[in-house]
Amino acid sequence: MSAPLILVAETAGFCFGVKRAVRMAYEAASKYKNVFTLGPLIHNPQVVESLRREGIGVVEEHTDLPPKATVIVRSHGITLDVYNWLVEAGYRIVDATCPFVKKAQKIVADLSEDGFGVVIVGDKDHPEVKALVSYGKGRATIYPNMPDADRVGVVAQTTQLKERFLECVCHVLNRGDFSELRVHNTVCQSTAERQKECKRLAERCEVVVVVGGRNSANTRKLVEIAKREGKDTYHIEVAKEIDPSWFFNKRVIGITAGASTPDWIIGEVVEAVSRITGGIVYGGEKGE
Ligand code: SF4
Repeated sequence: MSAPLILVAETAGFCFGVKRAVRMAYEAASKYKNVFTLGPLIHNPQVVESLRREGIGVVEEHTDLPPKATVIVRSHGITLDVYNWLVEAGYRIVDATCPFVKKAQKIVADLSEDGFGVVIVGDKDHPEVKALVSYGKGRATIYPNMPDADRVGVVAQTTQLKERFLECVCHVLNRGDFSELRVHNTVCQSTAERQKECKRLAERCEVVVVVGGRNSANTRKLVEIAKREGKDTYHIEVAKEIDPSWFFNKRVIGITAGASTPDWIIGEVVEAVSRITGGIVYGGEKGE
């Protein structure tokens, strides 16, 4: 039997916003002492551990920050209240909110200011969504809830599935009880590309390995997409979780990874799968 093919997604790994946030965090650690992130910087325990070794601590609540600390705001942003609290309390803020998330926040703020009720398509417990809601200043709600407003704006969490965003837009259209509807597609292109490629990959493969933090929403979405294609799908954080039996008699194996998975972890997984199966690796080269 010839060697299996191992197809590595080109979109696997750090997106622009995460790369930027990690770079800003390392820069802050080299410049300042007493540096903290509000919650883990990204949803990847291995990266968080590496940042800890550089002296970057994690606090869960802004009220847990020690005095005179430098605070790194994560790529998915923080609520307006917390931001204002940090400013008033005199903390140095390194704002690593992804520019695409910032844009979504501004859209919500502008819609609310213009008198629109805002529907946000997203996971209600996700910090990005909580932050987006805060920018609506009481006029934003999370789908499937609907605002009690005559003019309605729809905005998505940047990592939402496009299908869910469209489902919400159709839902609002079907209700028809509004005079104006504004739809802002704030699904991040890098997320949409990664999800599209994951679907294509799963169509071609018999088994798909998705690498990323278990608490990473965008990684879990990739798992969902691959499973939807009816393929054996395994979600792992690191190479040592791989079970060789997954690849028994498999001819085409796919590997992809969430936006918060660093290249070195993806590399270790690709290397392990190739060692176990003797497979030939294709793809995975990323352009900048
Ligand atoms: S997924 Fe998109 S919006 Fe989110 S951090 Fe990455 S680049 Fe920014």
